[in-house]
Amino acid sequence: MTVRTRFAPSPTGYLHIGGARTALFSWAFARKLGGQFILRVEDTDVARSTPEAVQAILDGMQWLGIDYDEGPFYQMQRMEEYKVHIQTMLASGHAYLCYCTKEELEALRESQMVNNLKPRYDGRWRPEEGKVLPSPPEGIKPVVRFKNPQTGAVTWNDLVKGHISIANEELDDLIISRGDGTPTYNFCVVVDDWEMGITHVIRGDDHVNNTPRQINMLIALGATIPQYAHLSMILGDNGQKLSKRHGAVSVIQYDDDGYLPEAVLNYLARLGWSHGDDEIFTMQQFCQRFDLDHITPSAAQFNTEKLNWLNAHYIKEANITKLGVDITKRLAAMQVTVARAPDLIAVLGLYRERANNLNQLAKDIAYFYKLPAADAADVEKHVTPEVLPVIKALAYELVTCDWTIGAIHEAINHVATSNALKFPKVAMPLRVMLTGVAQSPSIDAVMAILGREEVLARLGTVIG
Ligand code: GLU
Repeated sequence: MTVRTRFAPSPTGYLHIGGARTALFSWAFARKLGGQFILRVEDTDVARSTPEAVQAILDGMQWLGIDYDEGPFYQMQRMEEYKVHIQTMLASGHAYLCYCTKEELEALRESQMVNNLKPRYDGRWRPEEGKVLPSPPEGIKPVVRFKNPQTGAVTWNDLVKGHISIANEELDDLIISRGDGTPTYNFCVVVDDWEMGITHVIRGDDHVNNTPRQINMLIALGATIPQYAHLSMILGDNGQKLSKRHGAVSVIQYDDDGYLPEAVLNYLARLGWSHGDDEIFTMQQFCQRFDLDHITPSAAQFNTEKLNWLNAHYIKEANITKLGVDITKRLAAMQVTVARAPDLIAVLGLYRERANNLNQLAKDIAYFYKLPAADAADVEKHVTPEVLPVIKALAYELVTCDWTIGAIHEAINHVATSNALKFPKVAMPLRVMLTGVAQSPSIDAVMAILGREEVLARLGTVIG
């Protein structure tokens, strides 16, 4: 059997963290087992589906690098297909016409509520042996209802949640086609999963309630029943429902927010799935190790700190040329143009060790390409009138010394000791004058990259 999985988003919003994880797990499962992964856009809710949302989903998948073997298929383009199956269901007696008006159904619902009964269709148009049905009223377009079995239970071994059994008594006769002839959501899913040969349905557990109905319809169609794996929900950092601040935003937002796709993917991979204590894996390793047995049935909790930690790891590991392209774009967005010198690759080599966010990294190195505006408090604290002559003396040494970290260090050390000062007493004002901030990697390394001319120019503007 070739494994075939699918991701079936409804394009009513962005691809958010929950959807991206569902896509990732379905994709990895197919990749691991040499199967196929299919993208299906469930756009039958025409009032809420938008082309922008479709694009956002495609963009999000592309950014993450989740590729698909077939699709995207659009349900709205498959309407005729579903209608054929509605007719088959009617012909085989697995479905029937129901002429109830909205008002009748509303009255039924109200009386059930008054009597403390669960609101459900009472089967008044359901054909049964020996039952006489009312004659179809004039001018009413009937809906089609699925004739759900009334006895027994629907049972499946959920690959995440374990054994689940739902009594058929709990399920009423679902509308599978509306009065205007359009098939409804659950029916489209069933036909698609069947015709697309889906072997494993991996999806969010908000769909658990649909599964028994879908299984009954698949049986009625004579289809093979796929295996189901329902992923539990993702909670926010605070244990509450995922909020806009964490995850309930488009995955692309993580790009804007300074995250590498590798970090987000790795983070998602561990969100509800584990492989011993392993935290870091490439997507290739993830696909090799991924299984459904180690998905936790309990809710997973978002952890921003861990995402940041992974981001730091992938920033350190990134191909530095690629990182340079990314950071150049971020600097451009801050109106900072990367010049040929100082060498961006050298700058990143010095700075990426301490970065856990691309925007922060861009901000931290901007001073290499744009004169920094130092914080007045830092200037007052470190660039004191007493230290200026010392810096001037240093500047003279810097004109002629070798331009290496070692030689620069020596020069600073030399002026410091000649003036009975400790090294930091000279390094701090230098740092503020050259970088605009009081924190940076070792100042001699910064100066080596910044270049002799630029260093002297920046010191010159202060010491005259
Ligand atoms: N379209 C559904 C959703 O976006 C998913 C349906 C399914 O996976 O079966 O929630």
